[in-house]
Amino acid sequence: MATDDSKYEPVIGLEVHCQLATGAKTFSPEAAHFGAEPNTNVDPVSLGHPGTLPVLNERVLEYTVRMGLATHCTIRRRSTFARKHYFYPDLPKGYQISQYEDPICYDGWLDLEVDDGDGERSVRRIAITRIHMEEDAGKSIHDQKADVSLLDFNRCGVPLIEIVTEPDLRSPSEASAFLQAIRQIVRYLEVCDGNMEEGSLRCDANVSVRPRGAEELGTKTEVKNMNSFRNVERALQYEIDRQVALLESGTAVVQETRLWDADSGVTRAMRSKEEAHDYRYFPDPDLVPMEVTDEMLAIAREAMPELPDARRRRLVEDAGLPAYDAAVLTEEPDLADYFDDVLRHVVSAVEVPVSTSAKQVSNFLMTDVLRVVKERGISAQDFPIDAERLARLIVLRIGDEVSSSGAAEIFEAMLDRPDDPVDLASELDVLQVSDEESLLPAVRQVLAQNESQVAQYLGGKEGLMGFFIGQVMRTFSGSPDPRRVRELLVSELKRRSDQ
Ligand code: ADP
Ligand code: MG
Repeated sequence: MATDDSKYEPVIGLEVHCQLATGAKTFSPEAAHFGAEPNTNVDPVSLGHPGTLPVLNERVLEYTVRMGLATHCTIRRRSTFARKHYFYPDLPKGYQISQYEDPICYDGWLDLEVDDGDGERSVRRIAITRIHMEEDAGKSIHDQKADVSLLDFNRCGVPLIEIVTEPDLRSPSEASAFLQAIRQIVRYLEVCDGNMEEGSLRCDANVSVRPRGAEELGTKTEVKNMNSFRNVERALQYEIDRQVALLESGTAVVQETRLWDADSGVTRAMRSKEEAHDYRYFPDPDLVPMEVTDEMLAIAREAMPELPDARRRRLVEDAGLPAYDAAVLTEEPDLADYFDDVLRHVVSAVEVPVSTSAKQVSNFLMTDVLRVVKERGISAQDFPIDAERLARLIVLRIGDEVSSSGAAEIFEAMLDRPDDPVDLASELDVLQVSDEESLLPAVRQVLAQNESQVAQYLGGKEGLMGFFIGQVMRTFSGSPDPRRVRELLVSELKRRSDQ
């Protein structure tokens, strides 16, 4: 479908669900893990057995407050749970416990750095309407071949937060960037693992289009079932194109919920949009109102880690790294911590400007460390070389005691062995020899054995320097520092021409 991008403006608002990593359910102590045998993480409360009563897991509140603070929300000091009624076989109680009129967090924002299209970066502030707590429903598995539907109640009662944005996003890539920023924050806060494939991070996207310049919003559709950043972008682009084509042909967009089908690359109508009154919301009489005390807020503020934005800024402003490096290194909190640790050890061992050390550390992490992390599918936390030992290798490199290829050899060996990089450097014979005492005899020998070349060099054929260096490098046993070899050759040859 071809669209005229300049004529219409897409408008997108997201509803992001994050599964809180509390390890227990919202209103019962039952475990809540992804991938457990179906119907093993269940209990009378989450199955809605008659006579059971929900009790809020304090951590759910704590994690939600953390997320609210991290996204500049106002924290409501007193809020309630509401019942949201609908019938579905995977919802045994017949209602979901959620929040309705008084969400615990509201009026927040998140800044996104976006590409203007002309290579310039600019900041877009996306308003967050609300963040509320709710419990998840179970899962229906429809087995078409056997013509049965199976129910897994493990997810029933698992704690979620729902983050709702204002319709402030203007393109599929902005929507994806927002989602990535949320994922980064929940991982930094350690309130959710952010795994989209396993469904711990899910997103419903509301999208409409309007003539560019128009104030009024167009009719929106809600798209569900996108389980990767790429699919969010694809689904939204498809939906924008579809809506533009409808409007261009004089047909109205129907407000409805649509499902993204990643295999066919299309969205399909699922159901007409239900209205809030369809859910018969009312305050849950089984749960007392929640209080967020001054003390809880103080503890949450105290526990707030340095967030991705601040961390990126610190790496650029204090460590002098390029913005690109800072973005890559802060992508995952584990890697960012590892970077900080390695740099701290390097800085305490060498006397070069911080930015020189930082760039060396960054190079090692962005190429060697990240490569291994990806190959092995591990997190930086489980990287086999601890920060202190990697720092010792980087110190060798900064001091030019090993060449870059020598350092790479040592690095490979360190992956499988606990040895000190200095010991490995001698064992692998890659320590660069740079002291005059060791190098000078070899330099003199090479000059003595190549008298005609020396004569030519002194006669003006300076290109022969490479030949002399090569000869020294070859005849010397060990790894001579090529820069030092050159210096010695230059001074020896000069001495001869002066004679
Ligand atoms: P509903 O009444 O359908 O639940 P809300 O006003 O609560 O709609 O908004 C739900 C989400 O849809 C929010 O993220 C909001 O930003 C977004 N949204 C609302 N109107 C539009 C629109 N016209 N186009 C795109 N997104 C919209
Ligand atoms: Mg709504």
